[in-house]
Amino acid sequence: MYKALYRRSRPNRFSEIVGQEHISLTLKNEVINGTFSHAYIFTGSRGIGKTTTAKILAKALNCAALQNGEPCCECNICKGIDAGNIPDVQEIDAASNTGVDNIRAIKEDAQFAPTVGKYRVYIIDEAHMLSIGAFNALLKIMEEPPNNVVFILATTQINKIPATILSRCQRFDFLRPSVLTIEQLLLKVASKEDIAINSDAVRLIAVLSDGGMRDALSLLDVCSNVSNGKVIDESLVESIAAIPLDKECLNLLEAAINSDYELCIKIINECYVKAVDISSLCESLLRHCRNILLLKTCKKEINLLEISQKSLKKTQEIAFKISLNQIMLILEEIKLAYEKLNKSSMPKIELELCLLNLCKKLHVLPVNECNSNQASEDESFRIKNWQQVIECLTETNSILAGALNDSSAYIKNDTVLIDSENSIFLELIRNDENAKKDLKVAMVKILGKRYRIGPYKK
Ligand SMILES: [Zn+2]
Repeated sequence: MYKALYRRSRPNRFSEIVGQEHISLTLKNEVINGTFSHAYIFTGSRGIGKTTTAKILAKALNCAALQNGEPCCECNICKGIDAGNIPDVQEIDAASNTGVDNIRAIKEDAQFAPTVGKYRVYIIDEAHMLSIGAFNALLKIMEEPPNNVVFILATTQINKIPATILSRCQRFDFLRPSVLTIEQLLLKVASKEDIAINSDAVRLIAVLSDGGMRDALSLLDVCSNVSNGKVIDESLVESIAAIPLDKECLNLLEAAINSDYELCIKIINECYVKAVDISSLCESLLRHCRNILLLKTCKKEINLLEISQKSLKKTQEIAFKISLNQIMLILEEIKLAYEKLNKSSMPKIELELCLLNLCKKLHVLPVNECNSNQASEDESFRIKNWQQVIECLTETNSILAGALNDSSAYIKNDTVLIDSENSIFLELIRNDENAKKDLKVAMVKILGKRYRIGPYKK
């Protein structure tokens, strides 16, 4: 029988758990020192190792040949727990066993000593799905826990767990692994399993899995099954995940920025014809918007970007071209469309409407506003009393002052950047030292500070 890749590469020991070292080390020490709790709650998003960790803990608590807090994975008990046929360790899916009767059955079981191991371990998955009656019954057991019983509750929604239960559990918050952590895991698994894959494809799978290790490994599994031994590349991942290409998303965003509605419709239709799900097109667009936003706001945090090396340049170009307000507007509109289209029977029309709206809004956004936004992002600001500077300059250099009529200026760091197309101004500012001096003196008088000067380049 085919065993899925994520099952084959599931960690067997604490030391094999990736990205949750703060939890696995603590648990291992608790096992070594015998200071473990009778009730744990593991919380965090789906597919990041909560149940896997619970099983390792169950093995460590029962293993016949514990090795420095780690289960040996060789003894009959370890093997039995892995195979799921040791009655002392039970995994209960609360999503399908929500009732009070299920918990009562546990209560009865728990009265008896374990059959083969040292502890009865109850792993309750999706614990937030338990009914109120079931929680109350569970609380009764937790209030006076039998000595050899350990509960491990796993949940994706900790806010739905009653406070009375929470207060009796040792809580561990599982972290969502970073794209980089998932990339490293994928590379490790690929090398172990002899799967040929290039780095762009690894990156894309890591990005698409949105922090889920299981999802990432499942996608790698499918890719390796259809690749026929060829190197898995980005386009194979894209076709399997039926997601739009980075190129298409970036072109779509660019078309919107250029208010080219016809091109937007054309690109959406191309994706649609390729059976790309409109909802995942929206998700990809949001991801690209976020990348652009990051490029505009946190210039040093380049490793937070969720993008392949190949698409970085184009993303940078777009980020350079648009203002912060524009990208925030786009992000907001696509987010709204995404929420709407998931409820709509005609998602494609929702997205087309969204793009039409965007094209209209971006088109009427005044150029000046864009420029001033651009200026403010560059930590520069427009000089409000520039007109006064020009008036002051009239007294000492009327030619230059005249050339500066209708100009505007910005301050960036210690430089005043003057926005003017006037050829006399450009000539004077390049070649006439006296003109420069006169302007600087006028600036000191009005602005109260000595600045350098330079032409403002759009
Ligand atoms: Zn063992």
